[in-house]
Amino acid sequence: MANTIKKIAVLTSGGDSPGMNAAIRSVVRTCAYHSIECIGIYRGYEGMIEGDFLEMDARSVKGIINKGGTILKSARSKEFRTKEGREKAHTQLVKAGVDAFVVIGGDGSFTGAMVFNSEFNFPVMGIPGTIDNDIVGTSHTLGYDTALNTVVEAIDKIRDTASSHNRLFFVEVMGRDVGHIALNAGVGAGAEEILIPEEDLGLDRLLESLRRSKASGKSSSIVVVAEGDKIGKNVFELKDYVEENMSEYEVRVSVLGHMQRGGSPSCFDRVLASRMGVRAVEGLLNGESNLMVGLKNDVMTTTPFNQSVKGKMPINKELLRVSDIMTV
Ligand code: ATP
Repeated sequence: MANTIKKIAVLTSGGDSPGMNAAIRSVVRTCAYHSIECIGIYRGYEGMIEGDFLEMDARSVKGIINKGGTILKSARSKEFRTKEGREKAHTQLVKAGVDAFVVIGGDGSFTGAMVFNSEFNFPVMGIPGTIDNDIVGTSHTLGYDTALNTVVEAIDKIRDTASSHNRLFFVEVMGRDVGHIALNAGVGAGAEEILIPEEDLGLDRLLESLRRSKASGKSSSIVVVAEGDKIGKNVFELKDYVEENMSEYEVRVSVLGHMQRGGSPSCFDRVLASRMGVRAVEGLLNGESNLMVGLKNDVMTTTPFNQSVKGKMPINKELLRVSDIMTV
């Protein structure tokens, strides 16, 4: 390995997601393995601008692989969006002797990294950490699998009460622009309908489907709704609409909210984080930069930042059909 890089920094940026700590651990330990110094940057780009750094060695990351959130904290930084802010950040990195950094975050964090790299020719690699699974260049983002498990577990519990009272539940899950969580968790939890931003089911079809469910003898129904569903109504408006048109249903709403971002990462996310951290650090040591690491067909790959931040990972349309068939 080429060895011009002696010190690597790691930061978490944007929204937190389960598995970020496991990724920090992996970056720190891969540095230790290659006898490279490592520092942690607190509070994303905000901490980079302020020089809020922490020396880290292999033991500094003990006991965190199973912890949700991020020990380095995360933040959104307005100042980093300005040239002056990024100049301050660059000065801090140079002062601390940092030669490269790994940013764990979403597409905004990668855009920031790309701009920084173009201005200062500073080596940087990205690890996709977001529960939404909306980033091009990886089949799974860090935290997505854990979020799916959290949502399915919550819906299982909601179904217990739904079936005890013959109720219809609208369950809102995260996904403003993409329906990955709604679609996969919906199929996994056996939802009667799944409303996602990518597909316009239409209110008429929703009513028709609910009538069919009722007629087929189902005692309760679960409809999973992504925050940004195409029908354009929020869960409470949907509840009112269905109650107005189907008096036979007692409708309830459950908004799962931020609990979807928390919790101990699944085994899948811990393994993914470990692999991504190794790939990111070894990429930097091999002279790579401006790339996001990702998973494709169970192989670690890289995608240039400018491609990974473009567009959104499309949903798997086969799952829509599977869902239709399952709710026959
Ligand atoms: P999430 O998916 O959770 O929203 P994200 O990484 O997309 O995560 P953002 O808030 O969009 O979250 O971006 C994180 C930070 O990256 C911003 O607070 C900002 O500091 C930096 N950033 C985003 N876009 C730019 C940009 N165009 N130029 C410079 N910095 C940027």
